[in-house]
Amino acid sequence: MSDQTRFLLNETDLPKFWYNVQADSPVPPTPVLHPGTLEPVTPDFLSVLFPMELIMQEIATDRYIPIPEEVREIYKLYRPTPLIRARRLEQALGTPAHIYYKYEGASPSGSHKSNTAIPQAFFNKAAGTKALTTETGAGQWGSALSMACQMFGLDLEVYMVKVSYNQKPYRRILMETFGAQVFASPTDRTNYGRSVLASDPQSPGSLGIAISEAVEVAAASDGAKKYSLGSVLNHVLMHQTVIGEEALKQMDLADEYPDVVFGCVGGGSNFAGIAFPFLRENLKNGKRTRLVAVEPTATPSLTKGTYTFDYGDTARMAPVVKMHTLGHDFVPPSIHAGGLRYHGMAPMVSALVDANLIDAVAVPQNATFEAAIQFARAEGIVPAPESSHAIRAAIDEALDAKAKGEKRVILFNLSGHGNFDMTAYETYLHGKLEDYEYPAEAVAEAMARLPKISVPA
Ligand SMILES: *Cc1c(COP(=O)(O)O)cnc(C)c1O
Repeated sequence: MSDQTRFLLNETDLPKFWYNVQADSPVPPTPVLHPGTLEPVTPDFLSVLFPMELIMQEIATDRYIPIPEEVREIYKLYRPTPLIRARRLEQALGTPAHIYYKYEGASPSGSHKSNTAIPQAFFNKAAGTKALTTETGAGQWGSALSMACQMFGLDLEVYMVKVSYNQKPYRRILMETFGAQVFASPTDRTNYGRSVLASDPQSPGSLGIAISEAVEVAAASDGAKKYSLGSVLNHVLMHQTVIGEEALKQMDLADEYPDVVFGCVGGGSNFAGIAFPFLRENLKNGKRTRLVAVEPTATPSLTKGTYTFDYGDTARMAPVVKMHTLGHDFVPPSIHAGGLRYHGMAPMVSALVDANLIDAVAVPQNATFEAAIQFARAEGIVPAPESSHAIRAAIDEALDAKAKGEKRVILFNLSGHGNFDMTAYETYLHGKLEDYEYPAEAVAEAMARLPKISVPA
């Protein structure tokens, strides 16, 4: 047993329920406001974009929500995912710490995003939706949703940020292989896209613009098309808890329990997925695991942002939520971890950070690539640049344990592989990457530009 490296579950161990942290969270949920009226949103407003079942999951307070059998059938194509003890990395570091990672890159699209893409496609199909619209930046979310839509017979329109569309042809072709239609955003298919192109024909696009286009198409479709989001929302975080529920069983197989859990955060979903089941154990069963969200110094919403009400998107079409934010008009620097370039954070993760139940750290870009390469050379998996933020923090923890001569049990989520990110690795290995520090004055300036939002009691 003591030299075991992979901890595998059987298909029959696949979770039957998602865990809803809202049942146990000591912090009450904050209201979601309409972007126009700044009044709490009604289910009617949301039902233009989402099927009712997902809206109900968004506000549910039940502790466990059953995973439909149709969703579990497709999860079985890649779940349960392996938990691996990084023995060779431990040796390379010379640390007494035990390092474990949960490998979500084992999914067909190469990241954890399939865990929510599959149920979102399912609940839309069940509600009679014919087609979905979405945005994608680097392409991981678009790939995951393309596969899920194909399996449930839904059409999919993906609005892909133009600069990525041109720079990442393989992600686009992967989406097309699964049958999606992919457009370089800004497009001339929407009012918003045409208005952007009219003022800047060479616009490289942004996630904010792409979200606005995907939302507009769904809103104007008379119910035929719905919109789908890959992070941030409560139901998305909840779908990801299959990661942590499996990891709990697998740590049990390893006869250990983590002292600390790391996950990278963009919108917060893969971190929530691994951390929330361990948070439940902290809150209800007396465990004391440290839960640490790891973000880039270039977009440090949790460590430098303000916890306040702000718009979810740049065009101010998305709901206003209470979150750690750098300001909705913040334009993130072009770091290679495209999936972490978001001005805000999931409201649920933000509230738990504010309540000191979750910790946060920020790491600079070059240090994440250094960690990624050390990990790849020891463990044989090239990590996604996003996931490498969690690896950096895990390695730093293992080195700290070494310096103090402590045996510590470390668990991190390897949210995806980096096989489509070779350009980023090439730039690190053969060129030069910049490290960005977010200037403190910039936060104050961004906050001054926020609309005055009177918070409902
Ligand atoms: C999208 C993505 C992320 C960031 O999104 P979260 O919602 O914060 O998880 C992290 N890792 C990978 C591999 C991704 O594709």
